[in-house]
Amino acid sequence: MIPQEVWATVKVQLQMQMDRGSYETWVKRTEFIAYDADTATFVLGAPNSYICEMLQTRLYPKFRRMLSDTAGNAVLARFEIVREAEVTPPSDDMPLLRYAASTETTLDAPSMEELVRTPRHSGLPDSELNARYTFERFIVSPHNEMVYQAAQAIAESPGTMYNPFFMYGGVGLGKTHLLQAIGHACLQRGKKVLYVSSEVFVSEFITAIRNRTNAMFQQRYRTVDVLLIDDVQFFMGKESSQDEFFHTYNALTQWNKQIVLVSDRHPRDLNNIDERLRSRFQGGLTTDIQAPELETRRSIVTMWMHERGVEFDTDVVTMVTQPVRSVRELEGAFRHLLARATLQGKLSVAEAQTTLNRYDQPRDRITAERIIEMTAQKSAVPAADILGKKRSEIISTTRQIAMFLCRELTDLSLSQIGNAFGRSHTTILHACNKVTADIAASPAFRARVDKIRKALKG
Ligand code: ADP
Ligand code: MG
Repeated sequence: MIPQEVWATVKVQLQMQMDRGSYETWVKRTEFIAYDADTATFVLGAPNSYICEMLQTRLYPKFRRMLSDTAGNAVLARFEIVREAEVTPPSDDMPLLRYAASTETTLDAPSMEELVRTPRHSGLPDSELNARYTFERFIVSPHNEMVYQAAQAIAESPGTMYNPFFMYGGVGLGKTHLLQAIGHACLQRGKKVLYVSSEVFVSEFITAIRNRTNAMFQQRYRTVDVLLIDDVQFFMGKESSQDEFFHTYNALTQWNKQIVLVSDRHPRDLNNIDERLRSRFQGGLTTDIQAPELETRRSIVTMWMHERGVEFDTDVVTMVTQPVRSVRELEGAFRHLLARATLQGKLSVAEAQTTLNRYDQPRDRITAERIIEMTAQKSAVPAADILGKKRSEIISTTRQIAMFLCRELTDLSLSQIGNAFGRSHTTILHACNKVTADIAASPAFRARVDKIRKALKG
Protein backbone atom coordinates (compact mmCIF):
# COMPACT_ATOMS: atom_id res chain seq x y z
CA MET A 1 0.00 0.00 0.00
CA ILE A 2 1.21 3.49 -0.70
CA PRO A 3 1.24 5.83 2.35
CA GLN A 4 -1.84 7.79 1.20
CA GLU A 5 -3.72 4.54 1.00
CA VAL A 6 -2.56 3.52 4.46
CA TRP A 7 -3.87 6.78 5.90
CA ALA A 8 -7.16 6.48 4.00
CA THR A 9 -7.63 2.94 5.36
CA VAL A 10 -6.89 4.02 8.92
CA LYS A 11 -9.29 6.91 8.57
CA VAL A 12 -12.09 4.59 7.52
CA GLN A 13 -11.27 2.29 10.42
CA LEU A 14 -11.43 5.22 12.82
CA GLN A 15 -14.74 6.27 11.33
CA MET A 16 -16.13 2.85 12.04
CA GLN A 17 -14.72 2.68 15.56
CA MET A 18 -15.45 6.13 16.88
CA ASP A 19 -18.80 7.69 17.38
CA ARG A 20 -19.75 10.27 14.80
CA GLY A 21 -19.16 13.41 16.88
CA SER A 22 -15.64 12.42 17.89
CA TYR A 23 -14.73 11.28 14.41
CA GLU A 24 -15.91 14.50 12.83
CA THR A 25 -14.22 16.61 15.45
CA TRP A 26 -10.84 14.97 15.58
CA VAL A 27 -10.23 12.88 12.52
CA LYS A 28 -12.34 13.89 9.57
CA ARG A 29 -10.42 17.04 8.71
CA THR A 30 -7.03 15.53 9.38
CA GLU A 31 -5.22 15.04 6.12
CA PHE A 32 -2.25 13.23 4.74
CA ILE A 33 0.64 15.58 4.02
CA ALA A 34 3.67 13.42 3.47
CA TYR A 35 5.49 10.29 4.39
CA ASP A 36 9.07 10.62 5.48
CA ALA A 37 10.63 7.31 4.52
CA ASP A 38 13.93 7.98 6.32
CA THR A 39 12.28 8.17 9.70
CA ALA A 40 9.21 6.06 8.78
CA THR A 41 6.99 8.95 9.83
CA PHE A 42 3.55 9.90 8.60
CA VAL A 43 3.12 13.66 8.57
CA LEU A 44 -0.53 14.47 9.05
CA GLY A 45 -2.19 17.85 8.84
CA ALA A 46 -4.79 19.07 11.32
CA PRO A 47 -6.93 22.15 10.68
CA ASN A 48 -5.95 24.09 13.79
CA SER A 49 -3.52 24.13 16.67
CA TYR A 50 -6.09 22.91 19.14
CA ILE A 51 -6.89 19.75 17.23
CA CYS A 52 -3.25 19.31 16.37
CA GLU A 53 -2.32 19.28 20.03
CA MET A 54 -5.15 16.99 20.98
CA LEU A 55 -4.07 14.52 18.33
CA GLN A 56 -0.47 14.68 19.38
CA THR A 57 -1.20 14.18 23.06
CA ARG A 58 -4.29 12.02 23.22
CA LEU A 59 -4.81 10.13 20.03
CA TYR A 60 -1.18 9.53 19.15
CA PRO A 61 -0.76 5.95 20.45
CA LYS A 62 -3.90 4.85 18.67
CA PHE A 63 -2.89 6.48 15.39
CA ARG A 64 0.55 5.03 15.56
CA ARG A 65 -0.71 1.53 16.27
CA MET A 66 -3.27 1.62 13.50
CA LEU A 67 -0.88 3.10 10.95
CA SER A 68 1.71 0.47 11.81
CA ASP A 69 -0.82 -2.36 11.62
CA THR A 70 -2.04 -1.20 8.25
CA ALA A 71 1.37 -0.39 6.80
CA GLY A 72 2.68 -3.75 7.95
CA ASN A 73 5.70 -2.23 9.72
CA ALA A 74 6.33 0.06 12.67
CA VAL A 75 5.85 3.71 11.75
CA LEU A 76 5.62 7.02 13.60
CA ALA A 77 3.27 9.95 13.15
CA ARG A 78 3.70 13.71 13.41
CA PHE A 79 1.02 16.35 13.23
CA GLU A 80 1.21 19.76 11.61
CA ILE A 81 -1.25 22.55 11.21
CA VAL A 82 -2.40 22.94 7.64
CA ARG A 83 -4.81 25.83 8.00
CA GLU A 84 -4.60 27.94 11.09
CA ALA A 85 -8.20 28.73 11.80
CA GLU A 86 -9.74 29.94 15.02
CA VAL A 87 -10.20 27.31 17.63
CA THR A 88 -13.64 25.92 16.95
CA PRO A 89 -15.94 26.94 19.78
CA PRO A 90 -17.49 23.97 21.51
CA SER A 91 -20.92 23.23 20.17
CA ASP A 92 -23.63 20.75 20.95
CA ASP A 93 -22.87 18.36 18.19
CA MET A 94 -19.30 18.09 19.35
CA PRO A 95 -19.77 16.47 22.73
CA LEU A 96 -16.19 15.40 23.16
CA LEU A 97 -14.80 18.74 22.22
CA ARG A 98 -16.98 20.35 24.81
CA TYR A 99 -15.89 17.85 27.37
CA ALA A 100 -12.26 18.27 26.51
CA ALA A 101 -12.48 22.03 26.39
CA SER A 102 -14.03 22.17 29.82
CA THR A 103 -11.32 19.96 31.22
CA GLU A 104 -8.62 22.30 32.32
CA THR A 105 -5.72 20.01 32.91
CA THR A 106 -4.46 17.80 30.16
CA LEU A 107 -2.58 15.56 32.53
CA ASP A 108 -5.42 14.07 34.53
CA ALA A 109 -7.92 14.22 31.75
CA PRO A 110 -9.13 10.86 30.53
CA SER A 111 -7.30 9.57 27.51
CA MET A 112 -8.83 10.17 24.13
CA GLU A 113 -9.51 6.49 23.85
CA GLU A 114 -11.39 6.51 27.14
CA LEU A 115 -13.44 9.45 25.98
CA VAL A 116 -14.27 7.73 22.76
CA ARG A 117 -15.26 4.51 24.40
CA THR A 118 -17.36 5.87 27.23
CA PRO A 119 -21.01 5.48 26.32
CA ARG A 120 -22.97 8.69 26.57
CA HIS A 121 -26.18 7.58 28.16
CA SER A 122 -24.68 5.12 30.58
CA GLY A 123 -25.06 5.75 34.27
CA LEU A 124 -22.13 3.43 34.71
CA PRO A 125 -18.97 4.77 33.18
CA ASP A 126 -17.13 1.48 33.36
CA SER A 127 -19.53 -0.31 31.09
CA GLU A 128 -17.99 0.16 27.70
CA LEU A 129 -20.60 -0.26 25.04
CA ASN A 130 -19.90 0.42 21.42
CA ALA A 131 -22.50 2.92 20.26
CA ARG A 132 -22.80 1.09 16.95
CA TYR A 133 -23.79 -2.26 18.42
CA THR A 134 -27.54 -1.77 18.61
CA PHE A 135 -30.51 -3.92 17.64
CA GLU A 136 -31.36 -1.50 14.84
CA ARG A 137 -27.99 -2.06 13.24
CA PHE A 138 -28.13 -5.84 13.49
CA ILE A 139 -29.36 -7.40 10.27
CA VAL A 140 -31.30 -10.55 11.04
CA SER A 141 -30.74 -13.57 8.85
CA PRO A 142 -33.29 -16.39 8.80
CA HIS A 143 -30.91 -18.57 10.86
CA ASN A 144 -30.53 -15.96 13.53
CA GLU A 145 -34.10 -14.90 13.91
CA MET A 146 -34.67 -16.91 17.02
CA VAL A 147 -31.56 -15.69 18.83
CA TYR A 148 -32.34 -12.12 17.82
CA GLN A 149 -35.88 -12.35 19.15
CA ALA A 150 -34.75 -13.96 22.36
CA ALA A 151 -32.22 -11.14 22.83
CA GLN A 152 -34.92 -8.55 22.30
CA ALA A 153 -37.30 -10.27 24.67
CA ILE A 154 -34.62 -10.31 27.34
CA ALA A 155 -33.85 -6.65 26.81
CA GLU A 156 -37.54 -5.90 27.21
CA SER A 157 -37.91 -7.57 30.57
CA PRO A 158 -34.55 -8.59 31.94
CA GLY A 159 -34.47 -11.24 34.62
CA THR A 160 -37.90 -12.62 33.94
CA MET A 161 -37.55 -15.03 31.03
CA TYR A 162 -34.40 -16.97 30.35
CA ASN A 163 -31.70 -16.79 32.94
CA PRO A 164 -29.03 -17.07 31.87
CA PHE A 165 -29.20 -16.40 28.18
CA PHE A 166 -26.21 -18.07 26.55
CA MET A 167 -25.18 -17.31 22.95
CA TYR A 168 -22.33 -19.05 21.18
CA GLY A 169 -20.80 -19.15 17.71
CA GLY A 170 -17.72 -18.59 15.56
CA VAL A 171 -15.51 -15.52 15.23
CA GLY A 172 -16.95 -12.33 13.78
CA LEU A 173 -20.57 -13.43 13.57
CA GLY A 174 -22.05 -10.67 15.70
CA LYS A 175 -22.03 -12.16 19.20
CA THR A 176 -20.55 -9.09 20.84
CA HIS A 177 -22.83 -6.89 18.76
CA LEU A 178 -25.98 -8.66 20.00
CA LEU A 179 -24.73 -8.82 23.56
CA GLN A 180 -24.14 -5.08 23.63
CA ALA A 181 -27.45 -4.44 21.87
CA ILE A 182 -29.09 -6.01 24.92
CA GLY A 183 -26.98 -3.67 27.04
CA HIS A 184 -28.06 -0.53 25.14
CA ALA A 185 -31.72 -1.47 25.29
CA CYS A 186 -31.55 -2.19 29.02
CA LEU A 187 -29.74 1.08 29.69
CA GLN A 188 -32.51 2.88 27.90
CA ARG A 189 -34.97 1.22 30.25
CA GLY A 190 -33.01 2.70 33.13
CA LYS A 191 -31.42 -0.59 34.16
CA LYS A 192 -27.97 -0.76 35.62
CA VAL A 193 -25.88 -2.64 33.10
CA LEU A 194 -22.37 -3.98 33.23
CA TYR A 195 -20.62 -5.36 30.15
CA VAL A 196 -17.21 -7.01 30.49
CA SER A 197 -15.33 -9.80 28.84
CA SER A 198 -14.42 -12.66 31.13
CA GLU A 199 -10.79 -11.60 30.73
CA VAL A 200 -11.59 -8.26 32.31
CA PHE A 201 -13.47 -9.98 35.10
CA VAL A 202 -10.43 -12.16 35.77
CA SER A 203 -7.96 -9.30 35.76
CA GLU A 204 -10.14 -7.09 37.95
CA PHE A 205 -10.57 -9.94 40.35
CA ILE A 206 -6.83 -10.52 40.57
CA THR A 207 -6.27 -6.81 41.14
CA ALA A 208 -8.95 -6.76 43.82
CA ILE A 209 -7.21 -9.56 45.69
CA ARG A 210 -3.84 -7.92 45.39
CA ASN A 211 -5.12 -4.54 46.58
CA ARG A 212 -7.52 -6.00 49.11
CA THR A 213 -10.44 -4.31 47.43
CA ASN A 214 -12.67 -7.37 47.24
CA ALA A 215 -15.56 -5.49 48.73
CA MET A 216 -15.45 -2.92 45.95
CA PHE A 217 -15.15 -5.64 43.38
CA GLN A 218 -18.22 -7.38 44.74
CA GLN A 219 -20.12 -4.14 44.93
CA ARG A 220 -19.33 -3.51 41.28
CA TYR A 221 -20.49 -6.89 40.04
CA ARG A 222 -23.28 -7.75 42.41
CA THR A 223 -25.32 -4.59 42.30
CA VAL A 224 -26.26 -4.54 38.63
CA ASP A 225 -29.57 -5.41 37.00
CA VAL A 226 -28.00 -6.90 33.92
CA LEU A 227 -24.58 -8.52 33.73
CA LEU A 228 -23.23 -9.15 30.23
CA ILE A 229 -20.17 -11.38 30.03
CA ASP A 230 -18.39 -11.69 26.70
CA ASP A 231 -16.04 -14.50 25.68
CA VAL A 232 -16.73 -16.74 28.64
CA GLN A 233 -14.22 -19.26 27.26
CA PHE A 234 -11.43 -17.16 28.77
CA PHE A 235 -12.55 -18.39 32.18
CA MET A 236 -11.17 -21.78 31.22
CA GLY A 237 -8.44 -22.90 33.56
CA LYS A 238 -8.81 -19.91 35.88
CA GLU A 239 -10.15 -21.59 38.96
CA SER A 240 -10.27 -18.89 41.57
CA SER A 241 -11.91 -16.46 39.15
CA GLN A 242 -14.46 -19.12 38.28
CA ASP A 243 -15.16 -19.55 41.92
CA GLU A 244 -15.72 -15.83 42.35
CA PHE A 245 -17.89 -15.75 39.26
CA PHE A 246 -19.94 -18.62 40.64
CA HIS A 247 -20.74 -16.53 43.72
CA THR A 248 -21.43 -13.43 41.63
CA TYR A 249 -23.73 -15.54 39.51
CA ASN A 250 -25.67 -16.88 42.47
CA ALA A 251 -25.92 -13.50 44.14
CA LEU A 252 -27.42 -11.99 41.00
CA THR A 253 -29.80 -14.74 40.01
CA GLN A 254 -31.08 -14.98 43.54
CA TRP A 255 -32.53 -11.50 43.01
CA ASN A 256 -33.69 -12.28 39.48
CA LYS A 257 -31.04 -10.15 37.89
CA GLN A 258 -30.35 -10.97 34.26
CA ILE A 259 -27.16 -12.67 33.16
CA VAL A 260 -26.21 -12.96 29.51
CA LEU A 261 -23.18 -14.95 28.44
CA VAL A 262 -21.33 -15.25 25.15
CA SER A 263 -18.81 -17.86 24.16
CA ASP A 264 -17.14 -19.30 21.10
CA ARG A 265 -18.55 -22.75 21.94
CA HIS A 266 -21.45 -24.56 23.59
CA PRO A 267 -21.25 -24.59 27.40
CA ARG A 268 -20.79 -28.36 27.44
CA ASP A 269 -17.54 -27.91 25.48
CA LEU A 270 -16.12 -25.43 27.97
CA ASN A 271 -13.56 -27.82 29.37
CA ASN A 272 -11.61 -26.66 32.38
CA ILE A 273 -14.64 -24.80 33.59
CA ASP A 274 -16.13 -26.07 36.79
CA GLU A 275 -19.04 -28.41 36.25
CA ARG A 276 -21.33 -26.42 38.57
CA LEU A 277 -20.81 -23.33 36.39
CA ARG A 278 -21.26 -25.25 33.16
CA SER A 279 -24.52 -26.71 34.35
CA ARG A 280 -25.75 -23.27 35.41
CA PHE A 281 -24.79 -21.87 32.01
CA GLN A 282 -27.14 -24.41 30.47
CA GLY A 283 -29.96 -23.74 32.88
CA GLY A 284 -31.61 -21.01 30.83
CA LEU A 285 -31.69 -20.59 27.07
CA THR A 286 -28.68 -21.70 25.05
CA THR A 287 -28.61 -20.78 21.41
CA ASP A 288 -26.07 -20.47 18.62
CA ILE A 289 -25.37 -17.67 16.16
CA GLN A 290 -24.89 -18.74 12.57
CA ALA A 291 -22.93 -17.18 9.74
CA PRO A 292 -25.10 -14.97 7.53
CA GLU A 293 -25.99 -16.29 4.08
CA LEU A 294 -25.56 -14.31 0.87
CA GLU A 295 -28.79 -12.31 1.08
CA THR A 296 -27.99 -11.16 4.60
CA ARG A 297 -24.43 -10.27 3.66
CA ARG A 298 -25.87 -8.08 0.90
CA SER A 299 -28.23 -6.37 3.33
CA ILE A 300 -25.39 -5.70 5.74
CA VAL A 301 -23.24 -4.12 3.04
CA THR A 302 -26.21 -2.09 1.85
CA MET A 303 -26.69 -0.75 5.37
CA TRP A 304 -23.01 0.21 5.60
CA MET A 305 -23.21 2.03 2.26
CA HIS A 306 -26.29 3.93 3.42
CA GLU A 307 -24.64 4.95 6.64
CA ARG A 308 -21.68 6.38 4.79
CA GLY A 309 -23.63 7.86 1.93
CA VAL A 310 -21.80 5.84 -0.69
CA GLU A 311 -23.17 3.56 -3.31
CA PHE A 312 -21.05 0.94 -4.97
CA ASP A 313 -21.92 -0.59 -8.29
CA THR A 314 -24.15 -3.70 -7.97
CA ASP A 315 -21.32 -5.77 -9.41
CA VAL A 316 -19.01 -4.49 -6.72
CA VAL A 317 -21.54 -5.37 -4.02
CA THR A 318 -21.82 -8.86 -5.49
CA MET A 319 -18.07 -9.15 -5.62
CA VAL A 320 -17.63 -8.34 -1.95
CA THR A 321 -20.58 -10.36 -0.66
CA GLN A 322 -20.24 -13.48 -2.83
CA PRO A 323 -17.35 -15.16 -1.02
CA VAL A 324 -18.40 -16.81 2.21
CA ARG A 325 -16.99 -14.60 4.94
CA SER A 326 -17.77 -13.80 8.52
CA VAL A 327 -19.26 -10.35 9.04
CA ARG A 328 -15.99 -9.14 10.48
CA GLU A 329 -14.16 -10.21 7.34
CA LEU A 330 -16.84 -8.65 5.24
CA GLU A 331 -16.28 -5.46 7.18
CA GLY A 332 -12.56 -5.64 6.45
CA ALA A 333 -13.17 -6.08 2.73
CA PHE A 334 -15.72 -3.28 2.74
CA ARG A 335 -13.31 -0.92 4.53
CA HIS A 336 -10.68 -1.56 1.90
CA LEU A 337 -13.14 -0.70 -0.84
CA LEU A 338 -14.24 2.40 1.01
CA ALA A 339 -10.68 3.56 1.53
CA ARG A 340 -9.95 3.08 -2.14
CA ALA A 341 -13.10 4.95 -3.14
CA THR A 342 -12.35 7.80 -0.73
CA LEU A 343 -8.90 8.11 -2.13
CA GLN A 344 -10.03 8.28 -5.73
CA GLY A 345 -13.45 9.82 -5.36
CA LYS A 346 -14.98 6.86 -7.15
CA LEU A 347 -14.55 3.13 -7.54
CA SER A 348 -14.65 1.22 -10.79
CA VAL A 349 -15.45 -2.48 -10.94
CA ALA A 350 -11.89 -3.23 -12.03
CA GLU A 351 -10.40 -1.26 -9.16
CA ALA A 352 -12.72 -2.97 -6.73
CA GLN A 353 -11.55 -6.31 -8.06
CA THR A 354 -7.89 -5.38 -7.60
CA THR A 355 -8.54 -4.08 -4.11
CA LEU A 356 -10.40 -7.21 -3.08
CA ASN A 357 -7.81 -9.49 -4.63
CA ARG A 358 -5.21 -7.75 -2.57
CA TYR A 359 -7.36 -8.03 0.56
CA ASP A 360 -7.96 -11.70 -0.05
CA GLN A 361 -4.34 -12.45 -0.75
CA PRO A 362 -2.77 -14.89 1.67
CA ARG A 363 -0.30 -12.19 2.78
CA ASP A 364 -3.12 -10.18 4.26
CA ARG A 365 -5.11 -13.06 5.58
CA ILE A 366 -4.13 -15.52 8.21
CA THR A 367 -4.65 -19.05 6.97
CA ALA A 368 -4.11 -22.42 8.66
CA GLU A 369 -1.10 -22.97 6.39
CA ARG A 370 0.54 -19.72 7.48
CA ILE A 371 -0.13 -20.48 11.12
CA ILE A 372 1.42 -23.92 10.83
CA GLU A 373 4.45 -22.54 9.05
CA MET A 374 5.00 -19.68 11.46
CA THR A 375 4.45 -21.77 14.59
CA ALA A 376 6.91 -24.34 13.28
CA GLN A 377 9.47 -21.71 12.41
CA LYS A 378 9.25 -19.94 15.76
CA SER A 379 9.51 -23.26 17.60
CA ALA A 380 12.39 -24.56 15.48
CA VAL A 381 10.37 -27.61 14.45
CA PRO A 382 9.92 -28.72 10.81
CA ALA A 383 6.44 -27.80 9.57
CA ALA A 384 6.05 -31.33 8.21
CA ASP A 385 6.30 -32.71 11.75
CA ILE A 386 3.33 -30.63 12.85
CA LEU A 387 1.19 -32.39 10.30
CA GLY A 388 2.93 -35.72 10.85
CA LYS A 389 2.51 -38.40 13.47
CA LYS A 390 5.46 -37.72 15.80
CA ARG A 391 4.43 -37.34 19.40
CA SER A 392 7.47 -36.01 21.21
CA GLU A 393 6.69 -33.34 23.77
CA ILE A 394 8.07 -30.44 21.72
CA ILE A 395 6.26 -31.45 18.55
CA SER A 396 2.94 -32.14 20.30
CA THR A 397 3.03 -28.80 22.06
CA THR A 398 3.93 -26.91 18.92
CA ARG A 399 1.14 -28.70 17.08
CA GLN A 400 -1.33 -27.76 19.80
CA ILE A 401 -0.29 -24.12 19.70
CA ALA A 402 -0.84 -24.07 15.94
CA MET A 403 -4.30 -25.58 16.41
CA PHE A 404 -5.13 -23.06 19.10
CA LEU A 405 -4.02 -20.15 16.90
CA CYS A 406 -6.11 -21.45 14.00
CA ARG A 407 -9.11 -21.38 16.29
CA GLU A 408 -8.29 -17.89 17.47
CA LEU A 409 -7.14 -16.21 14.30
CA THR A 410 -9.22 -17.77 11.55
CA ASP A 411 -12.90 -18.28 11.01
CA LEU A 412 -12.46 -21.99 10.41
CA SER A 413 -14.74 -24.36 12.29
CA LEU A 414 -13.29 -27.06 14.52
CA SER A 415 -13.77 -29.70 11.84
CA GLN A 416 -12.21 -27.49 9.17
CA ILE A 417 -9.18 -27.02 11.41
CA GLY A 418 -9.25 -30.76 11.98
CA ASN A 419 -9.05 -31.28 8.24
CA ALA A 420 -6.11 -28.92 7.94
CA PHE A 421 -4.21 -30.98 10.50
CA GLY A 422 -5.56 -34.38 9.49
CA ARG A 423 -7.14 -34.76 12.94
CA SER A 424 -10.61 -34.96 14.41
CA HIS A 425 -12.46 -31.95 15.73
CA THR A 426 -12.30 -33.31 19.28
CA THR A 427 -8.51 -33.37 19.05
CA ILE A 428 -8.58 -29.72 18.06
CA LEU A 429 -10.89 -28.85 20.91
CA HIS A 430 -8.70 -30.70 23.35
CA ALA A 431 -5.64 -28.83 22.04
CA CYS A 432 -7.39 -25.46 22.37
CA ASN A 433 -8.39 -26.19 25.94
CA LYS A 434 -4.95 -27.37 26.87
CA VAL A 435 -3.22 -24.33 25.37
CA THR A 436 -5.71 -21.99 27.04
CA ALA A 437 -4.99 -23.62 30.40
CA ASP A 438 -1.22 -23.55 29.84
CA ILE A 439 -1.33 -19.88 28.91
CA ALA A 440 -3.15 -19.15 32.14
CA ALA A 441 -0.71 -21.21 34.15
CA SER A 442 2.61 -20.14 32.68
CA PRO A 443 3.72 -16.63 31.73
CA ALA A 444 6.59 -18.10 29.72
CA PHE A 445 4.22 -20.21 27.69
CA ARG A 446 1.96 -17.23 27.21
CA ALA A 447 4.90 -15.18 25.93
CA ARG A 448 5.76 -17.94 23.49
CA VAL A 449 2.23 -17.95 22.03
CA ASP A 450 2.11 -14.14 22.01
CA LYS A 451 5.30 -14.05 19.98
CA ILE A 452 3.92 -16.34 17.29
CA ARG A 453 0.63 -14.48 17.19
CA LYS A 454 2.45 -11.19 16.80
CA ALA A 455 4.61 -12.55 13.99
CA LEU A 456 1.48 -13.72 12.18
CA LYS A 457 -0.24 -10.40 12.50
CA GLY A 458 2.86 -8.76 11.05
P1 ADP B 1 -18.11 -11.70 17.39
O1 ADP B 1 -18.25 -11.10 18.75
O2 ADP B 1 -19.09 -12.81 17.14
O3 ADP B 1 -16.71 -12.14 17.07
P2 ADP B 1 -18.80 -9.05 16.51
O4 ADP B 1 -20.05 -8.87 17.27
O5 ADP B 1 -17.58 -8.35 17.00
O6 ADP B 1 -18.48 -10.60 16.32
O7 ADP B 1 -19.09 -8.65 14.99
C1 ADP B 1 -18.07 -8.30 14.07
C2 ADP B 1 -18.51 -7.11 13.25
O8 ADP B 1 -19.55 -7.47 12.39
C3 ADP B 1 -19.04 -5.96 14.09
O9 ADP B 1 -18.64 -4.75 13.51
C4 ADP B 1 -20.55 -6.11 14.00
O10 ADP B 1 -21.21 -4.87 14.11
C5 ADP B 1 -20.73 -6.68 12.61
N1 ADP B 1 -21.88 -7.58 12.51
C6 ADP B 1 -21.91 -8.89 12.84
N2 ADP B 1 -23.11 -9.43 12.57
C7 ADP B 1 -23.87 -8.45 12.08
C8 ADP B 1 -25.22 -8.36 11.59
N3 ADP B 1 -26.02 -9.44 11.57
N4 ADP B 1 -25.66 -7.16 11.16
C9 ADP B 1 -24.86 -6.08 11.16
N5 ADP B 1 -23.58 -6.09 11.59
C10 ADP B 1 -23.08 -7.25 12.04
MG1 MG C 1 -16.79 -10.79 20.23
